[in-house]
Amino acid sequence: MDLDYSADERAFRDDVRTWLRENLPADLHDKVARYAHLKRDDLLAWHRILAARGWIAPSWPREWGGTDWNVVQRYLFEEECGYAGAPPLIPFGLAMCAPVLLKFGTEAQKQHFLPRIYRGDDFWCQGYSEPGAGSDLASLRTSAVRRGDCYVVNGQKTWTTLAHMADWIFCLVRTDPAAERKQDGISFLLIDMRTPGITVRPLVLMDGGHEVNEVFFDDVEVPVANRVHDEGKGWTVAKHLLGHERMNTARIGASQRELEALKNLASRLMKDGRPLLEDPRFRDRVSRVEVELMALAVTNLRFLDQLRGGRAPGAEVSMLKIKGTEIQQSLTELMMQAVGPLAQPRAVIGDGHDFDAYTASLAPRYCNYRKTSIYAGSNEIQRNIIAKMALGL
Ligand SMILES: Cc1cc2nc3c(=O)[nH]c(=O)nc-3n(C[C@H](O)[C@H](O)[C@H](O)COP(=O)(O)OP(=O)(O)OC[C@H]3O[C@@H](n4cnc5c(N)ncnc54)[C@H](O)[C@@H]3O)c2cc1C
Repeated sequence: MDLDYSADERAFRDDVRTWLRENLPADLHDKVARYAHLKRDDLLAWHRILAARGWIAPSWPREWGGTDWNVVQRYLFEEECGYAGAPPLIPFGLAMCAPVLLKFGTEAQKQHFLPRIYRGDDFWCQGYSEPGAGSDLASLRTSAVRRGDCYVVNGQKTWTTLAHMADWIFCLVRTDPAAERKQDGISFLLIDMRTPGITVRPLVLMDGGHEVNEVFFDDVEVPVANRVHDEGKGWTVAKHLLGHERMNTARIGASQRELEALKNLASRLMKDGRPLLEDPRFRDRVSRVEVELMALAVTNLRFLDQLRGGRAPGAEVSMLKIKGTEIQQSLTELMMQAVGPLAQPRAVIGDGHDFDAYTASLAPRYCNYRKTSIYAGSNEIQRNIIAKMALGL
């Protein structure tokens, strides 16, 4: 097993790093570093810079704009973007809807939607979860009843990230309430958010930010041409999509950047007459997270080595989601612990510290990051997956 990068891979990483240094706009970098809430224009600005460079959709087939990078290069690219502090690429169009269309879409759907997703013309959101159907997703109740060339959709989605910015939503809907297995009665629809009958209401998270929503459908007419795959095959589509999600949740590069920021902060903050980073107890906690992060990076390399050899890693990649999000949360806890009362949006700092905007964003960020162990399949569910599929329990 090879747990290091080859000379070619390191050269690729250096090229990407240099390009990011030269092309990541300072204002976007600054917003990410301050944990500012990014607006649609911020997200699309970075999307379009990468699209112009030809790097927005590395994993797509070459004919649709993919880069032909191998798995290691794709991984390195993502981690370098995280490490450089680039805005996140919103996955709903690029990494969720597009792979689904590539696998199951009609030629007309591909021709229409893929170039638009590539260029950033359409902003997508994901309509899976409903009240009462999160972990147990197959219990979803939003109905789609066929009427001529349309489905008439009624029901509610919840926790819909960025629905208030979105032009389109891909949805799991129930087309056959009588199906014996509840998974068999589900279909996958692409819905234009401007269709009459759709209402989006904000859900404000505990950090005070608006990133998720409730979406209501009242007699919303959706052309049958917007169904992906056959009627009743929505669960097959959903499972394909989840497979794409699992390798991308560790966010190792972003955590490495945040660990550096934490150390930097703790070496400037004084406690009992010496830098906080020299306090043995604090240092011990930082070291533990650092060791966990290194272990996660090595685990990730193990999975990459399997992929290099053409073997898809199994359910054990759920470990990446669990450990990756635990580390992200630990880092936000340590940041809060480091700055204490300065981690408040309203903290008044008049003593010449040059990191006030940064420290003031730490409490909202701490609150916001509680989400990471819930979304994309909660960590308890990931543990169930490992227990069942990897350990055979
Ligand atoms: C910030 C945020 C953004 C999100 N964005 C989206 C989005 O864009 N689109 C979308 O469709 N969804 C989105 N979600 C929804 C997310 O996928 C669900 O919240 C998640 O699947 C959990 O479902 P639930 O909230 O219904 O909790 P429940 O399923 O009710 O779970 C409640 C608790 O019970 C635990 N639990 C449930 N079942 C089991 C079990 N079998 N074994 C052990 N423990 C269990 C869970 O881990 C959790 O701790 C988002 C969620 C959050 C918090």
